[in-house]
Amino acid sequence: MIDHNISYGHQYISDEDIQAVVETLKSDYLTQGPKIGEFEKNFSEYLGCQYACMVSNGTAALHLCAMALGIKPGDKVITTPITFVASANGFRYQGAEIVFCDIDAKTYCLDLDKLEVILKASPKGTYKAVVPVDFAGYPIDEERLRKLADEYGFAIVVDACHAPGGSYIDSKGTKQMVGNCHYADLTCFSFHPVKHIATGEGGAVTTNRKDLYEKVALYRTHGITKNPDLLTQNDGGWYYEMQDLGYNYRITDFQAALGISQLKRLDWSIQRRNEIAHKYDEAFKDTPIKSPFRADNITHAFHLYIIQVATDKRKGLYDHLRANKIFAQVLYIPAHTMPYYRQFGWKNGDLPVAEDYYQHCLALPMYPTLTEEEQEWVIEKVKEYIGL
Ligand SMILES: *Cc1c(COP(=O)(O)O)cnc(C)c1O
Repeated sequence: MIDHNISYGHQYISDEDIQAVVETLKSDYLTQGPKIGEFEKNFSEYLGCQYACMVSNGTAALHLCAMALGIKPGDKVITTPITFVASANGFRYQGAEIVFCDIDAKTYCLDLDKLEVILKASPKGTYKAVVPVDFAGYPIDEERLRKLADEYGFAIVVDACHAPGGSYIDSKGTKQMVGNCHYADLTCFSFHPVKHIATGEGGAVTTNRKDLYEKVALYRTHGITKNPDLLTQNDGGWYYEMQDLGYNYRITDFQAALGISQLKRLDWSIQRRNEIAHKYDEAFKDTPIKSPFRADNITHAFHLYIIQVATDKRKGLYDHLRANKIFAQVLYIPAHTMPYYRQFGWKNGDLPVAEDYYQHCLALPMYPTLTEEEQEWVIEKVKEYIGL
């Protein structure tokens, strides 16, 4: 029996992480110092992309992508309803009209067949961006999305907040890391404590396109640049220009130091998460509990381990687990049913697969330091309630 709280996700801060932060706190730079560039270099090398831009959080990363792409009021942007609302909000900040596309019943990610139906129904160029989410850590089919993007003329912004360290094998047999932007234009990450890399608050944009990288970097600091190549004049060493209206979306150096240290454990984290997933799979095999699907060509990053149970059992199971100090979570309430998005005409019934998913889903504890004993306790309590 376990008598402490077990949450659906939890950060792991090692002594080495703490040491790295303390060192930076004692250095000359708390922000705008060398650790940010170092984190960007290490992260882009890990993923295999040209550019990484570290920012204050994942939502800021999404907003900066919208700005870099020049999204204007009324521009149409497609995303999935089964995500944290930030995936849509980052584009709403620029006044985009959000078009929600239903999910795939197997992967719970944006359904690319349904996306194609939406794209076909309007003239090419109608949609400025598509924002798929690597939901729960499942890498979406970026290769197929690239073909659609080339045909229909939209930008691909992958919300990979759930999937750093995930990967997939493309049709050429090449392993593609999520965020390497081999097929995507831009990819966003979050370093919130429930995500794989925890810096408190933090996020990143990755890309291989210099033009987009320069815009993201510009809008991250007020639209101000000191880059001699970009200045319209130069009065001397002090000179900078505010070239456009940007934000303060910077991350601090001590957060970057924490990120650098955490990144070293990302592979281990993915491996542990897959081991935990496998153990849950085994426990729920041949039961009415549905475990998450994985295609053969993907490495799931398992930010979340989501089961599906009968609708009439879901709330009871959630409450039963809570009574046993297990804080499973329902993720997510479909974004299109939120009062804010309903004002644009979205309603229940518009996206049946997403809405059905929501009736059944429950995220069980999933994080690399979850012990075997804790996981067995979770499994026991789930089975107990379901009557297995
Ligand atoms: C966490 C998350 C975000 C937002 O990240 P923050 O760092 O919390 O701003 C965006 N999209 C998805 C899918 C997320 O899980």
